[in-house]
Amino acid sequence: MPEFLSVAAVIRATKRQAMRSAVLQETPCAQTGRRLTRNEALELFATQDLLRLGQLADQAKRARWGNQAHFVINRQINPTNVCVLSCRFCDFATKRGRPNAYEMTIAQILDRLSPQLHEVHIVGGLHPDWRWDYYLEMFRAIKAQFPQIQIKAWTAVEIDYFSKKFRMSVEEILRQLQAVGLTALPGGGAEVFSERIRKALFPFKIGAPRWLEIHRIAHRLGIPTNATLLYGHRETHEERVDHMLKLRELQDQTQGFMSFIPLAYQPGRTRVVARQASAIEDLKTIAIARLLLDNVPHIKAYWVTMGEEIAAVSLHFGADDIDGTIGEERIMHAADAPSPVALTRERLVALIQEAGCIPVERDAVYHPLKTYAAANGHARCESSVSQ
Ligand code: SF4
Repeated sequence: MPEFLSVAAVIRATKRQAMRSAVLQETPCAQTGRRLTRNEALELFATQDLLRLGQLADQAKRARWGNQAHFVINRQINPTNVCVLSCRFCDFATKRGRPNAYEMTIAQILDRLSPQLHEVHIVGGLHPDWRWDYYLEMFRAIKAQFPQIQIKAWTAVEIDYFSKKFRMSVEEILRQLQAVGLTALPGGGAEVFSERIRKALFPFKIGAPRWLEIHRIAHRLGIPTNATLLYGHRETHEERVDHMLKLRELQDQTQGFMSFIPLAYQPGRTRVVARQASAIEDLKTIAIARLLLDNVPHIKAYWVTMGEEIAAVSLHFGADDIDGTIGEERIMHAADAPSPVALTRERLVALIQEAGCIPVERDAVYHPLKTYAAANGHARCESSVSQ
């Protein structure tokens, strides 16, 4: 694993800037082949040699994906913002009866979908009254009208809520959802695996052990999942690294995670922090995730929270995916995310091309659907790969 070898070079470069040019000329293979350790990851967060860190993460990304960068034609659906909880950091949730509360019918959900989509990403509030049948019927209706759309839905927080509310095991909940069309779980609800932060910001939401248990069960049932990290609020670099290490440990056992998605916290009106994490923090987090999570195939630069430009730059810092067209994002935009609510296929292709990468359109489980030309300028389909 040559990339881990060069991590030591970055750490040395940080400690001895005078040696920088010599270190940068070292070949990755000149080092040892072990995994990145917790202390090394922390030293990388402290490095001032951002470009060398990016270079190492880029090498690790290229070893897996070459010059490719993935995206998906998808639509995000947040069926309701009515939630039984009131997490301190959340600008999205509200209570029934408030002016901003909304609840979507299945017909309204179907209206937002189209045959061009490959993925629908569904997450929302923990609704106090909806019946289990509603959730099953939602999936049945989507698959009946749009059989080509893969359903990526419900965070571990929601699965846990369904399990308790409807008095079924997590396994039974997942099996029933699978039977009506569930393809994958998104990675939300993980926030940061820190009891200190959980008690301060979301004390009534599940913590790391339950989140990891639910994903472990999903993996056992053959449901691939994703994993997020919410950063840039009150967490420390140690907590970020520990979060990633817990994911790495589970992934060693199950191989069920498809992607890791660092989510930059949007301060909104919560006043948890004054401003969003800097671009430097975004890039370091992406790069260190690529180096630390050596067993997770995809590292996603989520343009909704990072912005289009930093997401594109991240493709040179270890990311190989920038998510998708989204269609309509409510959760981050409730917290005043300045990014657009949607991007077109052409815009995503152009962003990736401008970054010098080859755009690869994918589905929800990373099957490649179409590869585009790498050239700058207009999107041009180069070849197609059938599912
Ligand atoms: S973060 Fe999720 S669980 Fe917490 S209040 Fe917001 S929607 Fe509800």
